[in-house]
Amino acid sequence: MGVVKPMLPYGRQWIEDDDIEAVVAQLKSDWLTQGPAVAEFEKALCVATGAKFAVAVSSGTAALHLACLAAGVGPGDVGLTSDITFVASANGIRYAGGKPVLVDVDPVTALISVETLEARLRGLKPKVIIPVDFSGAVADLPRIRALADKVGAIVIEDAAHSLGATYTHEGKTFSAGGCAHAQMGILSFHPVKHVTTGEGGAITTNDPALHARLMELRTHGITKDAQRMGKNDGPWYYEQVELGLNYRLTDLQCALGISQMKKLPRFVARRRELARRYDAAFAALADRVVPLTVRAGTESSYHLYVLNLVPRKGESMASVAERRRALYMALREDNILPQVHYIPVHQQPDFIRAGFSDGSFSGAERYYAGCISLPLFPRMTDEDCDRVVDVVRRTA
Ligand SMILES: *Cc1c(COP(=O)(O)O)cnc(C)c1O
Repeated sequence: MGVVKPMLPYGRQWIEDDDIEAVVAQLKSDWLTQGPAVAEFEKALCVATGAKFAVAVSSGTAALHLACLAAGVGPGDVGLTSDITFVASANGIRYAGGKPVLVDVDPVTALISVETLEARLRGLKPKVIIPVDFSGAVADLPRIRALADKVGAIVIEDAAHSLGATYTHEGKTFSAGGCAHAQMGILSFHPVKHVTTGEGGAITTNDPALHARLMELRTHGITKDAQRMGKNDGPWYYEQVELGLNYRLTDLQCALGISQMKKLPRFVARRRELARRYDAAFAALADRVVPLTVRAGTESSYHLYVLNLVPRKGESMASVAERRRALYMALREDNILPQVHYIPVHQQPDFIRAGFSDGSFSGAERYYAGCISLPLFPRMTDEDCDRVVDVVRRTA
């Protein structure tokens, strides 16, 4: 038996002593939930994204649900999102009672295809469009926003992968989640994401009305705002003015989030460094594998490092998928745990059953056949990276 090499997952958190101290200090304080750490964490998110407001919630999925509710999605309403994403992007529309319409991706970037989006919008009056910043590269928000404005839809940027990323438009640089070209953005703080609160998420916006609505929806639809209340019996008084949820993030989690946010620049820099190391190694294997193309004009924050197998001349998609499986198994053999992001949403049985799988998705299917996400997280060493490259070089 050889020595078992340490496990290398595709992503994982990095919790340091100061993060732990921050949570312990919070535990000893007066506030476990609904206290000052929430607003402080939200402030850090505003500083990082450039958005005016941030509303911290219990998960990225909760953020998507609330953003859809705040955008007015209700029974029968249509919302569009990418076919290559985590199912939560589409489920937010469904929780609000709406009908998701899935849009094919550009197989080279795995980002929503703006041309296909434009075609699918014909004859629709959608409430929301939810582009996904897949892998950490920002979707073409300026063009998507222009299409959305024409049909009166609200753009919710799913920035769960792209905290710390930037994109340029007309010579100016904007941050993912900053809402320069979207009415709302959503973030996730799941442990595989850039910074973590265990579970957690947030909605960003520059719109004070959306902000007020989101704050209300996060806490049962309850308000203490005199403008919103019909009467006022005294200082204890509040009113439930709509049906909201309890989607709060705790002060314990926010204390961790505040500590983690201080490290975001370092974490993103390290992710980019590792991505460049992979890129350099795979350049020599360009006839066999190719890294996912980062959309021109965006600087990815690399939530994922996706590698694609290059189809051989005349090779079928099934054969590419078989080779991807072999590469996946070879990595597993070496105690490396890659992942595949994502199974196209239109192939999920629950979406098929509910009638949400219509459309043609040749881009997504082509992309899915040959993609694999390699380990990428800030605590990875250069040697870890080289270990992954070795298996790819031997196998792909
Ligand atoms: C992680 C993620 C979410 C939200 O997930 P939570 O686990 O609920 O925080 C949403 N969209 C995408 C694309 C994601 O990767």
